[in-house]
Amino acid sequence: MTALASDVVVGVVGAGTMGAGIAQVAAAAGHPVVLFDAFDGAGEAGKQRLAAGLDKLVAKGKMSVEDCQALLDRISIADSMAAMAPAGLVVEAILEDLDVKRQLFAELEAIVAPEAILSSNTSSISITSIARDLQRPERFVGMHFFNPAPVMKLVEVISGVATSSEVAACVFAIASTWGKVAVHAKSTPGFIVNRVARPYYAEALRLFEEQLADPATLDALLTGGAGFRLGPFALMDLIGQDVNYAVSESVFNAFYQEPRFRPSLVQRELVNAGFLGRKSGRGFYRYDDGADTLSVSQIEVPAGTASAELNPAGVSVVDGVQVRMTDGRTAQAVARAEGFPVILFDLLTEQSTRVAISASSDVLDTVLHSVVAGFNARGIEVTHVADWPGLVVMRTVAMLANEAFEAMLQGVANGEGIDNAMLFGVNYPRGPVAWAQQIGLTTILKVLDAIHALTGDPRYRASMKLRLEAECHF
Ligand code: NAD
Repeated sequence: MTALASDVVVGVVGAGTMGAGIAQVAAAAGHPVVLFDAFDGAGEAGKQRLAAGLDKLVAKGKMSVEDCQALLDRISIADSMAAMAPAGLVVEAILEDLDVKRQLFAELEAIVAPEAILSSNTSSISITSIARDLQRPERFVGMHFFNPAPVMKLVEVISGVATSSEVAACVFAIASTWGKVAVHAKSTPGFIVNRVARPYYAEALRLFEEQLADPATLDALLTGGAGFRLGPFALMDLIGQDVNYAVSESVFNAFYQEPRFRPSLVQRELVNAGFLGRKSGRGFYRYDDGADTLSVSQIEVPAGTASAELNPAGVSVVDGVQVRMTDGRTAQAVARAEGFPVILFDLLTEQSTRVAISASSDVLDTVLHSVVAGFNARGIEVTHVADWPGLVVMRTVAMLANEAFEAMLQGVANGEGIDNAMLFGVNYPRGPVAWAQQIGLTTILKVLDAIHALTGDPRYRASMKLRLEAECHF
């Protein structure tokens, strides 16, 4: 099946944050768009908001006045659902409630042509479930845009149990011709992004609970160390602690209390306190007094310390101390196994500007300082943390990869789809599958096994798919 011709009408129901954005995307691709909202004036208000956004593009010279006007002219505001009759595709973006959505689609199905495709932008409701009472559930599919829809590239194309593969393929093609990166996903809780991203928050919260480091330091390690745009604590403050906690809880319960998705008590206490993040003036950080009181922990070396020659891609020996990247074991365990004092550093990328290190108990301060100076000489700040398995970035990336492999095992999406979803839906610096392959699946497996062995917590059990694929590489 191919995409829709650009003269086919696209219907959008719900003219809020997402609906208005989706209407803009469809109109930008040349479609006549019919936008309907059940609340008086909401359709016009949605169009005005998107027009204001387009005006900014015109002011910046990114769009001509004529193109802007032509785009707006293609969007008509409907005063009843009957106006959806000519649509070849309808995208629903109303409130997140299963019964209300089911009712809407029952009504829509009686209005549109039998071959029209019906889709929902739901972020959390099962596509299978919304389609349950439809006469033709095979033409119903999830079309999950990300906020803001005109900017974010990703569209998850979600198939429920009854969705036909032709309809999913057609919506995939439509999203692609609209300039989006489409990925196929199976209707399972959280789809791809809201599932695979859980460990980014969960591991940070766990590391904080384990008192390895404070939020500012953990954020700095993940942004400076791995290139994530925003650290997990700053991101949770931005999303809203209540919203992020609710998603965690809903994914956890939807997976029958799977321990990998267990929410955090630390986050619940913030919600209990009303410290919801930016919107309430305080979350993990403070925004009310305009000053952030948290500072990043890092080592300053004494003046005159000679910097060690380091090989970030391999093992260096500095005054009899082995310096190497974590493979999940603690420095103490490596030192005992190898008979050398050991300094471990966290996962590095070519762009890293910060790294966590840990040391076995027999490492002298003078050697530690010279290793820190060696990293500083390469433009990398160093945070010395307790001797923890997998440190911070490696543990986070290993858990993201584990979730990605588990989703692949269950046929939610393929590796390319998952990587694209995380790159274009949440701007991760790398896709978790390709990242894990680059690090080495055996290393990722070792990290998970080490944390699993130390904590005894089943959330760290490795996905069977990861283990099988890693074993092929032995
Ligand atoms: P919103 O509250 O901004 O907009 C919803 C709009 O739907 C409102 O204008 C409301 O008047 C209208 N509406 C409610 N019931 C209706 C009905 N029965 N018929 C017609 N219109 C109706 O919400 P939103 O943030 O745009 O979210 C819409 C959908 O998109 C939800 O399913 C949500 O889960 C999903 N979503 C939201 C985001 C996000 O970041 N906001 C991202 C992806 C997906």
